[in-house]
Amino acid sequence: MEQLAPPGPAAASPWRSKCPWGSSPSTVTPCSLSDVMSEELANELQQQEENASFPHVIGIDTPVLIGEGTETSSDLLLAQMLQMEFDREYDAQLRREENKFNGGSKVSISFENFRMVHPFEDSESSDDEVDWQDTRHDPYGPEEFFCAADKPAANAKRGFVGKGREITTKHDEVTCGRRNTARMENFAPEFQVGDGIRMDLKLPNRVFNALKQHSYSEQRRSTRIHEKKEHSTSDQAVDPKTRLLLYKMVNAGILESVNGCVSTGKESVIFHANGGSMDNKIVPAECAIKVFKTTLNEFKHRDKYIKDDYRFKDRFGHLNPRKIIRMWAEKELHNLTRMQEAGIPCPEVVMLKKHILVMSFIGQDQVPAPKLKDVKLSSEDMKRAYHQVLYMMQQLYTECKLVHADLSAYNMLWHMGKVWFIDVSQSVEPTHPHGLKFLFRDCKNVSQFFQKAGVADAMNERELFNAVSGLDVPGDNEVEFAVQIEALEKINEDHIQQVGKRGKISEFEIPAQD
Ligand code: ADP
Ligand code: MG
Repeated sequence: MEQLAPPGPAAASPWRSKCPWGSSPSTVTPCSLSDVMSEELANELQQQEENASFPHVIGIDTPVLIGEGTETSSDLLLAQMLQMEFDREYDAQLRREENKFNGGSKVSISFENFRMVHPFEDSESSDDEVDWQDTRHDPYGPEEFFCAADKPAANAKRGFVGKGREITTKHDEVTCGRRNTARMENFAPEFQVGDGIRMDLKLPNRVFNALKQHSYSEQRRSTRIHEKKEHSTSDQAVDPKTRLLLYKMVNAGILESVNGCVSTGKESVIFHANGGSMDNKIVPAECAIKVFKTTLNEFKHRDKYIKDDYRFKDRFGHLNPRKIIRMWAEKELHNLTRMQEAGIPCPEVVMLKKHILVMSFIGQDQVPAPKLKDVKLSSEDMKRAYHQVLYMMQQLYTECKLVHADLSAYNMLWHMGKVWFIDVSQSVEPTHPHGLKFLFRDCKNVSQFFQKAGVADAMNERELFNAVSGLDVPGDNEVEFAVQIEALEKINEDHIQQVGKRGKISEFEIPAQD
């Protein structure tokens, strides 16, 4: 916005006669009455005056708000000028009062916020304030600007077009204004710039710079807020939505209370809760609430578990990331249910609500059962634990048609003198394209753990793999064995391609060794 100033007494010009407050011009040459009444003469004199004052705007037929000596026949314009003058006087008075109030005191109080005239309108305009480096997308950049010139390429370097008095430089007010308006498109998308871009709006440099600064600081501020929000989700997993869901569960009486956090992992946070009651189900006295984190980073590397799981395959492609996270929770529910049915010791599912899975708590009095890696067991118990794990893995494979896919001493708890399997959201069926590879990895973890723990009976990973799967994969070392597993997975994939459905891996012929 250009500054407006009311025409003062010094600005004597022929069109002052139209001003309600102006005095009659004294500089007009005396002429006859008919001449005085001639509109043509009046216009001519006006034009002469304008040309003398603004030689550079020759040819621009509708002068806009520029400053003193401007056309004042529009009521709106007059009103704006008066308002501006009023504001200026108000501000001057405010400044006087501010000075009086603060006096010589070292600590002063600013009245800035009460000013009428916007600070941007007060500041000095300067070409230097514009960041001319900002050329990400500039529809009024050199090429566009100079395309109207006679010799665009040659002129572009000179930074001006036209000849003599009609020269237009890149600093031309109108050109700069339009260029600034167009540059608003480069502001962050969330920064609303209104309809200005589509109008022939000429934005002065100082206004553009102020807007740009504002857009940058707004962008930084919103990024900070966003990060904070995301963080709260990832660190405590109790973003407002999760809190609301938990609150609803307590409100519905399913849970009596939600207590402290038991564990924070990469992908989930576990809370302890006191169970309430449900119409159709007995709710355990102590519950574990697994809240799957709503931040996606950690889940990205887990895509392979769910993407190729035929149970979820059809849905995977169409889902947004948040729904995929819910799918993890759903996957854990399905897998736990299968395990329950097979009688494998594992948490019992109470309910699933979006990304929140409620299950029975493995432990007592809010103290979770220790992980197998942390518990000190007698050699007898360790041996018993090993045989139990072997049996549970077999059950999981043959009865539940599942491979844990993250089985280690971290995901096995020791409770009431036996091993419990937990954390089965990533578990897949053996016919999953990488199901056997996952099983081999599980076997490696289990075998190494029990061998290190001194269980003499503990099989090596290859023996364990065959004992669990019922396959008879040959291979004297790990590398050979891994090659065989890959070949089996390939046969499995080919079979699915040909027959259109999954077969039983144990029925496939093991490829002969070279
Ligand atoms: P993550 O995917 O983050 O590893 P887990 O399901 O393994 O999640 O749970 C993390 C930890 O929370 C476990 O190691 C265990 O200590 C505790 N935990 C998980 N589920 C239960 C449960 N049902 N009862 C008791 N503790 C549990
Ligand atoms: Mg775990």
